[in-house]
Amino acid sequence: MCIEFFICVFQRPFRTNGPFITEFKEKGIIMRFKGDIRDMGARLLGEIDSENENIINWKDWLQKYRFFPEYPDDPYAWITDVLALKSVNSGNYGVGSVMFGFGNEIVAVGHNLVFSPSFRSDLHSEMVAINYFEEENPQITNLKGYTFYTSLEPCPMCLIRLISSDINKIHYVASDPIGGMVNGMSFLPPLWKELSEPQLFKAAQCSIELSKAAIEIMLINAEELLEILRKRRCNA
Ligand SMILES: [Zn+2]
Repeated sequence: MCIEFFICVFQRPFRTNGPFITEFKEKGIIMRFKGDIRDMGARLLGEIDSENENIINWKDWLQKYRFFPEYPDDPYAWITDVLALKSVNSGNYGVGSVMFGFGNEIVAVGHNLVFSPSFRSDLHSEMVAINYFEEENPQITNLKGYTFYTSLEPCPMCLIRLISSDINKIHYVASDPIGGMVNGMSFLPPLWKELSEPQLFKAAQCSIELSKAAIEIMLINAEELLEILRKRRCNA
């Protein structure tokens, strides 16, 4: 079955080594399974069915990757890479995001949905995860202690959204020198700069291999999708 997008909520606190129950909502289908973040990633990778050699190779690489204890963010960076690959496999930009709550439980997961199932210019990975969280949790107004991981440095649109959301800490797995905005935060308008002050925007403490993977996975179809965007501009 080809699943083009998904969101999920973990019902119990996330532990890297302990079992928990989660519910996936995939196009209205709810499935349950037990496992940790590794199991979740393995399951997502298992759903990737492709003849694209790049996708197959990255799937294999991610399945074999072992977390380095000296890099505390390795499991979180890894799952964003897994989500990014799933995004590419669904015909979207290879970017994945995951959001953790106050108790370190996963509260939202997302990947890019700009091109498939239908064109939505706003549905970058970060937007998908935050949309889901806010729609599901209108009663939560304080995100102190919440952490967000995304495979690629957020673009200007997503940076403003992340500031508006007031998520406490935001970590990105790879820098994006041509599209990212975190490293250009000093250029934000004064109001947004002021609002962002209590938040932490920082590179994830993960292995260089996971950072490189985030870039390489994004590049699998980036040029092809960029061409679609360019054509839309020409037709305007
Ligand atoms: Zn974005």
